[in-house]
Amino acid sequence: MVLPHEPEFQQAYNELVHALEDSTLFTEQPKYKKVIPVVSVPERIIQFRVSWENDKGEIEVNNGFRVQFNSALGPFKGGLRFHPSVNLSILKFLGFEQIFKNALTGLSMGGGKGGCDFNPKGRSDSEIRRFCVAFMRQLARYIGADTDVPAGDIGVGGREIGYLFGAYKQMQNNWSGILTGKGLTWGGSLIRPEATGYGVVYYVEKMIEKATNGKESFKGKRVAISGSGNVAQYAALKVIELGGTVVSLSDSKGSIISQTGITPEQIAEIADAKVKHQSLEQIISASAFSGANSVEYLAGVRPWAKVGQVDIALPSATQNEVSGDEAKALVEAGCKFIAEGSNMGSTKEAIDVFEANRSNDVWYAPGKAANCGGVAVSGLEMAQNSQRVQWTSEEVDAKLKNIMYTCFENCYATAVKYSTEKNAEGLPSLLKGANIAGFIKVADA
Ligand code: GLU
Repeated sequence: MVLPHEPEFQQAYNELVHALEDSTLFTEQPKYKKVIPVVSVPERIIQFRVSWENDKGEIEVNNGFRVQFNSALGPFKGGLRFHPSVNLSILKFLGFEQIFKNALTGLSMGGGKGGCDFNPKGRSDSEIRRFCVAFMRQLARYIGADTDVPAGDIGVGGREIGYLFGAYKQMQNNWSGILTGKGLTWGGSLIRPEATGYGVVYYVEKMIEKATNGKESFKGKRVAISGSGNVAQYAALKVIELGGTVVSLSDSKGSIISQTGITPEQIAEIADAKVKHQSLEQIISASAFSGANSVEYLAGVRPWAKVGQVDIALPSATQNEVSGDEAKALVEAGCKFIAEGSNMGSTKEAIDVFEANRSNDVWYAPGKAANCGGVAVSGLEMAQNSQRVQWTSEEVDAKLKNIMYTCFENCYATAVKYSTEKNAEGLPSLLKGANIAGFIKVADA
């Protein structure tokens, strides 16, 4: 069947297939080639109408989706995105990435993704609630703790998960772990909100350690971060905790840059204001930002070409948020480590720039490896729900760290094993390592 043009899905598919073809995997074990057509078609796509009532008493209609991509490793697992840009190409790319990301966590989870073209910006709390109830009314019959377990993504945080979970429970008269990212008092896991951001930083810790033979760490490093949501906030806090300087954050309208470093207090202020849907431009005029560390606001731009000298870049906003030119600017500014908190944060052109500079010690980690900490702790939330227990922060954080370190070692070892590069010394491609390692696990299953 010929499908309509799906540029984002095509990009994610090409990344995987090129990584596999440009390795020795298929020459060593040709049987794996047969799996590509199997994993590239979703097991099932559900599309539904979400009609709901706004505060004026009018009915609004949105397009809802759930892509149940692959359940070879376990129940479909992946977030829900509420954003006006949501369409099937974007959800298929996200669901496809999720299959291999979830495999890289080492836990038993298949891959899926869902969402809606609903724009939560500017909506009242009641409107969000009515929308979530209407959305779950359609989705409920397709999910289950051992079938498909959604979670949050862009536009879906703790509040939305709460409304969705409550709606499910009332409709089905059934308490089960059908969503992750739940509140702590009703089945959620400690460290789940922090998990994606912390996880990216744990992954990069290992990259720095390996690349410098243990001589360097985050201490003293200048780190550019994009985004200002959940992933960016906790990545920034962990970087600061480990002795690094966070020189940027951003939102869809612009970037803030501080050469002396954004502070934890300012991050807390951003977190509070974001709940009220305030933009960084509005937040920057607030008290904690005045004076002290000269935070500059740049309207209409992403931080990459504006931050000056940096050691590390963590794209943590959305897909394709680093262009080829911005990648060149980062490399010229001395950036050595790039790890994606966002899914497919770099364009193909940007990845080509990073990979071409691996011989200059520039090291790139794709989102499916670097940001798997979020879904990993979702997996731990499922485990806690099944056992009817709650682990401590220390326990969850230790497990998360272990998962991220193991994921890095797996990507590294796989890249070395299947490398086609004659000179296998130097930094192996984590792009290839992540794609091949995730693929092998799913293919074997
Ligand atoms: N949306 C997150 C991701 O892209 C988390 C998904 C989950 O926890 O299921 O991995």
